[in-house]
Amino acid sequence: MNDSDTLSRFLFEHAGIRGNLLHLDASWRAVLEAHPYPEPVASRLGEALAAASLLAATIKFEGSLILQIQASGPIRTLVAQATHARTVRGLARWEGEVPVADSLSEQFGEGQLVLTIDQGRGQPYQGVIPLAGARLTDAIEHYFSDSEQIPTRLWLAAGPSRASGLLLQRLPEADATEEDWNRVTLLADTLTSKELLGLSTEPLLHRLFHEETVRLFEPEPVSFRCGCARSRIADMIKLLGESDVDNLLDEQGAVEVTCEFCNRLYRFDPVDARQLFASTTCHEPPATQQ
Ligand SMILES: [Zn+2]
Repeated sequence: MNDSDTLSRFLFEHAGIRGNLLHLDASWRAVLEAHPYPEPVASRLGEALAAASLLAATIKFEGSLILQIQASGPIRTLVAQATHARTVRGLARWEGEVPVADSLSEQFGEGQLVLTIDQGRGQPYQGVIPLAGARLTDAIEHYFSDSEQIPTRLWLAAGPSRASGLLLQRLPEADATEEDWNRVTLLADTLTSKELLGLSTEPLLHRLFHEETVRLFEPEPVSFRCGCARSRIADMIKLLGESDVDNLLDEQGAVEVTCEFCNRLYRFDPVDARQLFASTTCHEPPATQQ
């Protein structure tokens, strides 16, 4: 069975624990094609993208889950976004040499991780997590245990052609015992990065949980999709203000914005750019006299 770019859900029967196993293949390579990253940056971004996809699949919502790190550096920014439609996009910014390190602080310095759930209406939900521990999973798991969320564990790995992740979560409504949870997570702790990246779904679940009763559901496809749009870029340009845009037009002849997630170029020539401001000052036509 080909499990490239899939999210597979599974359930431990009679144990009140659910799991998601994720493989990002072409979707991950599309992120890497937009920007060449040094290996330590790419690893963290791949892990973050896997984590965002796994977490997005645990909630019932329409919108996007964004895992964002802002830090003092060498890695300064990391954005991983996953939607309810199982699409992903992400990017990272860094400065100087990024070490291959066993702790987040060596790669990120001081920083925080922000989890945002944006449903496109109302205030987005945000949780802020201090960036501490050796791995990204430490920071995320700390958030789940600290904020009295549902107990959740993650295992993540990323290589040049695949980013993968495993998530286990106690079902809130089921009466999973502490013993079940400890047994299953201890088994999952024996998973190596090589296995997570190299084994396909069924052999991996068998390798870890062959003594458990696991019900595996049909895999769902995951894909890269940026979701950027000319109308949103136009809104950004409007925020610059008319005089700044006029200056840009004088200097460069056009306003060009490249989407950082997908490298798509949006070009607004003088007519397009001035139109943005014309439309904001346009008044409703006067009502016709009866
Ligand atoms: Zn884009």
